[in-house]
Amino acid sequence: MMYDSRFITANEYDKEVTVEGWAQEVRNLGGISFLILRDRYGLVQITAPKKKITPEVMQAITSLSRESVVRITGIVKASAQVKSGYEIIPSTVTVQSSAMTPLPMGVVDKVDVEAETRFNHRYMDLRKPEARAVFEIKSLVLRLIDEYMADNGFVEVFTPKLVASGAEGGSTLFKIDYFGKPAYLAQSPQLYKQMLMSTGMDRIFEIGPAFRAEPSDTARHVSEFISYDGEMAHIDSQTEVMAMIEGCMQYVISEVQTRGARSLEVLGTQVVLPKAPYPVISYEKAISMVQAAGFKIELGEDLGTEGEKMLGDLMAQDGHEMYWIAEYPEEAKPFYIMEKEGTPYSFSFDLDYKGQEISSGGQREHRYDRLVQRMEKKGLDPKSFEFYLNSFAYGMPSHGGWGIGVERLVQKMLGLNNIRETILFPRDRNRLVP
Ligand code: ATP
Ligand code: MG
Repeated sequence: MMYDSRFITANEYDKEVTVEGWAQEVRNLGGISFLILRDRYGLVQITAPKKKITPEVMQAITSLSRESVVRITGIVKASAQVKSGYEIIPSTVTVQSSAMTPLPMGVVDKVDVEAETRFNHRYMDLRKPEARAVFEIKSLVLRLIDEYMADNGFVEVFTPKLVASGAEGGSTLFKIDYFGKPAYLAQSPQLYKQMLMSTGMDRIFEIGPAFRAEPSDTARHVSEFISYDGEMAHIDSQTEVMAMIEGCMQYVISEVQTRGARSLEVLGTQVVLPKAPYPVISYEKAISMVQAAGFKIELGEDLGTEGEKMLGDLMAQDGHEMYWIAEYPEEAKPFYIMEKEGTPYSFSFDLDYKGQEISSGGQREHRYDRLVQRMEKKGLDPKSFEFYLNSFAYGMPSHGGWGIGVERLVQKMLGLNNIRETILFPRDRNRLVP
């Protein structure tokens, strides 16, 4: 039987097992050779004393190149010198795949490898347990979101990623050729989520890719990310939407602390459950807070990366890692956001996590005439949104929703300095391969 290293315990001592993994290190001391085998769960020491093994096995072990995949059958022996408490004395060695030399990058070398090199050889980079642990956490986060949404009566939906028009502004659209017609990769499921609100599916969510041709290189933008979107109908205000997100975030993070403990240990990280309720800071207040802290910004302007970071530092002083920025100027928000009548503001919010936006949302304009007015105000042609507007013309309830960048959430949760660490094969202006 094939063993994961995690299943080898004292029960297996003096028994035969078969293990398979990558040859992390081979040391040949003449009379005895050591092979450190790495599998998904850890390291296994294969000890080959010349006197106890066949010359063929000795030859196979000593000629192994680093990172070759090898299958070993042998007897497990207790050993006080080995960290795991045991070693395996091999009787059969099968090289499944011999690694070429030199390696494009080291897996366990202490030297810092440049990010460029790591992402060029991502298959090799991901052999590092700490690189992989991020994806165990990401997978867990997505499972926990599913759980929370199901518990709250949300139906999971899948909307098209090949679309005829954008929702979040034209500048970041990826244009493609669709049987000779222009089409785009979806920037967000926004329009479709809203259309579904007119159907009676009054709570929906989607987890899927979103594509944006981001003009600048930053540590928090990529051109393909996973968006966790939700939309809920029959609401009185955006507060209900915010409460749903807050409940979900607290659930996800507290469960990661327990269910993700092993991966967190590999990462050497602890995850803190944010203080709840999350403070709600109005956009106006946020601007005056960063102004008071010396940041040059005018009312009406976007906080931007620097402003968000500064606000994050101010919030951290009160121990808040998650907080809302609410009621942005309507001018700064897309057409589908509801205006706060009689003010220059809107029923919108961002959720920021340690100084970085991870979510935007708000109450939507569900009244047909006002929605058309808002489109015109934003210089959009209602005709090109007919498919969307129609769903507002025959009975549309009040509704609101959100979009959360899954990678930004994971990045901030784990304290990683670049969003790319949370993406297996990141896409940006400079990277389309691998
Ligand atoms: P930012 O101002 O940080 O560029 P945004 O306001 O343009 O973000 P939204 O349209 O509000 O982004 O999208 C909702 C969420 O999707 C964001 O809060 C963020 O978590 C995520 N997101 C948006 N663009 C990107 C991107 N290029 N890469 C990764 N995540 C993104
Ligand atoms: Mg936003």
